[in-house]
Amino acid sequence: MARNTEKRQTGRKAQKRSTNKQHKFLFVVGGVMSGVGKGVASSSIAKILQARGLTVTAIKIDPYINVDAGTMNPTEHGEVFVLGGGLETDQDMGNYERFLGTDIPDINYMTTGSVYQEVIRKERNLEYDGKNVEVVPHIPLQVIKRIKKAAQVANADVTIIEIGGTVGEYQNILFLEAVRMMKTKTPDDVAVVMVSYLPVPGSIGEMKTKPTQTAARTLNSAGVFADFILARGPVALDKKRKEKIAQFCNVEPQNVISAPDVASVYDVPLNFEKDKLSERICNVLNIKKIQKSDLSAWRRFVAKSKNGHDTVKIAVVGKYFNSGDFILSDVYLSVLEAIKYSAYKLGLKPDIHYISSLPFEDKKKLKELKQYDGILIPGGFGTTGILGKLNVVKYARENKIPYFGICYGMQLAVLEYAKNKLRMKNVSTTEIDPSAQHLVIDIMPEQKEKVAKSDMGGTMRLGEYPAVLKRGSIARKAYGADEISERHRHRYEVNPEYVEKLSAGGLVFSGTSPDERLMEIVELPKDIHPFFVGAQFHPEFHARPLSPHPLFTAFVKASYEGK
Ligand code: GLN
Repeated sequence: MARNTEKRQTGRKAQKRSTNKQHKFLFVVGGVMSGVGKGVASSSIAKILQARGLTVTAIKIDPYINVDAGTMNPTEHGEVFVLGGGLETDQDMGNYERFLGTDIPDINYMTTGSVYQEVIRKERNLEYDGKNVEVVPHIPLQVIKRIKKAAQVANADVTIIEIGGTVGEYQNILFLEAVRMMKTKTPDDVAVVMVSYLPVPGSIGEMKTKPTQTAARTLNSAGVFADFILARGPVALDKKRKEKIAQFCNVEPQNVISAPDVASVYDVPLNFEKDKLSERICNVLNIKKIQKSDLSAWRRFVAKSKNGHDTVKIAVVGKYFNSGDFILSDVYLSVLEAIKYSAYKLGLKPDIHYISSLPFEDKKKLKELKQYDGILIPGGFGTTGILGKLNVVKYARENKIPYFGICYGMQLAVLEYAKNKLRMKNVSTTEIDPSAQHLVIDIMPEQKEKVAKSDMGGTMRLGEYPAVLKRGSIARKAYGADEISERHRHRYEVNPEYVEKLSAGGLVFSGTSPDERLMEIVELPKDIHPFFVGAQFHPEFHARPLSPHPLFTAFVKASYEGK
């Protein structure tokens, strides 16, 4: 908690430091349907503006009543991305951080719930001077206040604001009202991009513009007019349809941008620049002084991502993959991206398989794991799929397959070791069996009170905390540093009462909190196992295309070397 307060103060100081620069705002809204890559489009626009020498930040607005994304089931909503300040947010925040290569503060994420919560708090605190507090204008005004504050904290030339959902939904109308109000007040400082979708129905084989026209009209009915239309679709937009959209949607033809499906999301900024999008946005926003675009480092990364020589085959064993008849890989998005960046850095082609832990409850199935060069168990909650995961850890440990456990994956590695290697009886974690005699993973004392009060939202150990690394360890070697800072999201931890016993039994706690109370990294010595490492934190939240995460790189390297 103390650290979070510190963060907030840093935010306030940054605010004071902010110059009186002219902040510009670019809203990104969705038309036609969701899931067409609005987050990637927003991140890519942020990237190309940054490449022009501008200071850019990005905000995500989610129209849910949930105050943050922490209470949402990942199969409903995708990955919960934890910011350095500790806020549990939408995975798009991860895209912004990865594309921009910067940390983004908590203020840049808002939901309907968090906006209402703040307005109600202010009303209770008599901050509205006895006025009627109304949905309009007070909710949009609060939204605008948050947006402007974020721009100030980042000292941003341009702030990109992605509004979740699709125009025409009841849910985001108050956010569109905020756009309308801002645009009316400062028309030169606000622009709107509508990310639309142009289907090519199989039966006719022709790209249809009508849904986009309808979406533009729906947006207009909220008093908001798009300056740009990004035409997402299975193929590129042709000239004829570009002109049609321009005419019917009241947008300049050169501001209708073709955005066909691409093999890699990292191509998107480069494709946008083929249409000179950054220049056009700067024109519309009246940004005069811009540098020549420099995307050279990005271009090198994209080239590397396509030139891998050998393959490295990694299994990510989780439980949040199934949604009806579909497989969801979004749930572990940051983990998957982190593996890719490290593989690219090593000149390798990542071949990542998402597999459910459930079938591995049957030990006969474990043989199937032989085909993988490395096994990763990411974070998770609850008891479903645990038996399977424990069997997988045992298999990886005994068969010397490189293993990387993240958060729950680390806790299960400790449990598996205690159970199978140290042959401890009646051993478990509090999360699985609180009545077990030896709880090698236990609830943190601070968390105990919260759980007792059924106050579960936003109560885990969240955000960045420092850790010190043990000399000579795999972790120390990977990081090349004695002290690190990583993001956390957990309620349980290695029980300090068992640290001595586990250490005597061969587990190395190579990363601890500076006061040595919390075990942050566990590993087996290299002469026992080529790579058996668990991290209580989530390194994936720090992995960036242009700076892959050292622990992931060490894992992928060990996996490849053991092939
Ligand atoms: N369920 C575990 C805990 O709360 C691990 C959390 C995680 O993997 N993010 O500590």
